[in-house]
Amino acid sequence: MEFYRAYKEGKLICTLCQHYCKIKEGSTGICGVNKNVGDKIDCLVYGYPSALYIDAIEKKPLYHFLPATKILSLGTVGCNFHCSFCQNWSLSQEHQIDKSRYISPKNMVQLALESDCPSIAYTYNEPTIFYPYARDIAIEAHKKGLKNVYVSNGYESDEVIDDMEGIIDAINIDLKSYNAVYYKSLGGSLEKVLKNIRHFAKKDIWMEITTLIVPTKNDSGEELHKIASFIAELSLDIPWHISAFHPDYKEIELPRTSLQSLKKAYAIGKSYGLKYVYMGNVKANADTLCPSCGKLLIQRDGFRNSFLFLKGNFCECGEKIEGVFDA
Ligand code: SF4
Repeated sequence: MEFYRAYKEGKLICTLCQHYCKIKEGSTGICGVNKNVGDKIDCLVYGYPSALYIDAIEKKPLYHFLPATKILSLGTVGCNFHCSFCQNWSLSQEHQIDKSRYISPKNMVQLALESDCPSIAYTYNEPTIFYPYARDIAIEAHKKGLKNVYVSNGYESDEVIDDMEGIIDAINIDLKSYNAVYYKSLGGSLEKVLKNIRHFAKKDIWMEITTLIVPTKNDSGEELHKIASFIAELSLDIPWHISAFHPDYKEIELPRTSLQSLKKAYAIGKSYGLKYVYMGNVKANADTLCPSCGKLLIQRDGFRNSFLFLKGNFCECGEKIEGVFDA
């Protein structure tokens, strides 16, 4: 499967993400890791993960997908955005590829199996820029009965989204703001991210959405209302994670997100009927409650889970809880 096509004057168009960079021979696109080598575009980070860890799946965050399991998580260098508050900036804004360790797709799957991880996450930096590698790992992973998780800024190309169905099982998408100017400052387009989230909602891929609440940047009531309303129109069953920001990268002058600000976002989400609104990076509102009878179904204490009344996808009152709860 090729994710590029010919353009004029020897240029090739990279079709991995919504930037659709037109790249001349010898150059890379915006992400710095996909290069026109003459007759094709090479994904330079293929086989070279710069970060590789075993995480709790709740850390992605995914709360309705294989809860209480471990996930082998990998990322490379490079990104198609340049967010000033990036919490993984040492990877995402780096273009130097460490080639001291090559891990083939088969070996990556073997690592997941040896680590008793039922799934693999493409995360830490934007996985769409290394989709050729993620895709090959994911196909091998499916052959061994493992699932695949994508943690993304939602800037996939249309071609990649269509290809992901049947290969990627779950995705968490950052909806960083509802302000077009703000999105532009991060290197993306609000309209394209919204279009992609709508596109994913039609796919057989479990989706959760995260918004990092950055003080003074995206925490106005008006903006939070727009985000919550957008998610609610797609489906009330999509979990919305509202996460606390901590000063990082170029935003070290900003304060941490207050609990009060998260509570405001939580209340706004609930006012639109969203069934599952979770607070992240704080110890509050991380539990799953039955939206019908209010019973505590999954209690989360950090990354420890206790299942109380959830049997498969159902509360004991009969209410269906959307998600993938059994491996
Ligand atoms: S992945 Fe995106 S940013 Fe990178 S070269 Fe391709 S289109 Fe450009």
